[in-house]
Amino acid sequence: MTEKPKVLVTIAPQIPEEQFTRNKIPSRSKLYGFVPCESGTVWQESLTSYLNRLAWHHHVFPQHLVAEVVVPRLCHSYSRPQIAKFCQRDAMGVNGNGPLAQEWASILENLTRRSDLRFLTLRWWVGDLLPRKLLRGKPAWCPACFAEWKDQEKPIYEPLLWGCQPVTVCLKHHRKLESHCPCCQRPQHVIRLHAPLDQCARCNAWLGSEAKAEPVPEDIEWQRWVIQILEELHLAAVSAGIPPWEQFFTNMSTSGFARGEQSRLADLTGLARGQLATWLRRSHTPTLGSILEFCYACNVTPLQVLLGDLAPLKQVIVEGKPHRPPHARRSRRVFDREQCLERIRSILDGREEPLGYVQLAQQLGYRGHTLLHHFPQECAQLSKQIKEYRRQKAEQRVEGIREEVRQAVLVLHAQGVYPSHRKVVERIAHPTLMRHPEARTFRLALCRDLGWN
Ligand SMILES: [Zn+2]
Ligand SMILES: [Zn+2]
Repeated sequence: MTEKPKVLVTIAPQIPEEQFTRNKIPSRSKLYGFVPCESGTVWQESLTSYLNRLAWHHHVFPQHLVAEVVVPRLCHSYSRPQIAKFCQRDAMGVNGNGPLAQEWASILENLTRRSDLRFLTLRWWVGDLLPRKLLRGKPAWCPACFAEWKDQEKPIYEPLLWGCQPVTVCLKHHRKLESHCPCCQRPQHVIRLHAPLDQCARCNAWLGSEAKAEPVPEDIEWQRWVIQILEELHLAAVSAGIPPWEQFFTNMSTSGFARGEQSRLADLTGLARGQLATWLRRSHTPTLGSILEFCYACNVTPLQVLLGDLAPLKQVIVEGKPHRPPHARRSRRVFDREQCLERIRSILDGREEPLGYVQLAQQLGYRGHTLLHHFPQECAQLSKQIKEYRRQKAEQRVEGIREEVRQAVLVLHAQGVYPSHRKVVERIAHPTLMRHPEARTFRLALCRDLGWN
């Protein structure tokens, strides 16, 4: 005990020696508390993304970390099958604004000794709003963001906004967020079992893509506004806090709208007959999406209404027209059978790159399984085609690996040198290739063929 402090003082001379007595060493964190991605910006990481990456930092599988370290600290106990089910389906609530998110954030803050993990949940964006339809049920992602981060060797993570239901587009790449694997068409687990965040948990396909997607111009203006509003709420929440949402409805019902003005306002902003009245009577609480759509048409921000500024609403009533056409009304689309069938045929005939039916539906502006409902046979063909396409791609990749290993082995063999694993690694352009089991087996088989024992 007498020598240790001296060594430490040499390493860190700015810290007084007395600090290193046994009792004064600050307590250690159980887990390594690295900095979350894009803290404090609109691209801020979600808590479940952080949790997944936390597990990988400790070289354990995310669901195992949850089972071993988080669950024993929760108020409720979970059995193993319940943990798996929670991680796959229900864990999105960990990013939300309810007690579940608060409990998980607090446990992870204790484990990592960080005090900022609570900000990775939506409580710090939307306060106490009703959680219904606030979060998606399963993760969503922008394939172009994954590709860009991979290319730039940046950490792969999921921004909190990608999980927020009203956010449907990546504004950086102007493409719709994906929620189904391009290969097997299945959604992803919230807390992964084995796969990293950019890999499908079911079929191991990479979820990123450098391919250009169809732009979605009609959504861009709306989405830009949605994200701007969420940012405004977030800034207010972390600085002064936002008032309880009850205030939003109280302010509107006490605003002195004359008889009939409320229903005119509802009509102008695309709400169903009597819907606004149910909000104001408090017999129905709208979702974040409905509030955003209402405010969008009136050119007012939810924060303005929360703080009692109702002038833009009165202006809409006086002018007799909404500031912008209501988003919900504009985006309701009639199903264009001909257009859909033309795109499907174009893909099946090879005039376009293979594409899953969910991705195609989303490109065409419909919900994920719309095409499957209308064209079940064609969709089965699309699935078969993309599976075959992916299989061929994987085969080409393996053939590329083999060719590189073959060249290295043959050169060493010609020099009379045994083509050992290390020697081959030194010669190939991409040394990480030799981590691939296929490359190892292939080198051994080639050595045997060349007569090396
Ligand atoms: Zn993107
Ligand atoms: Zn998949």
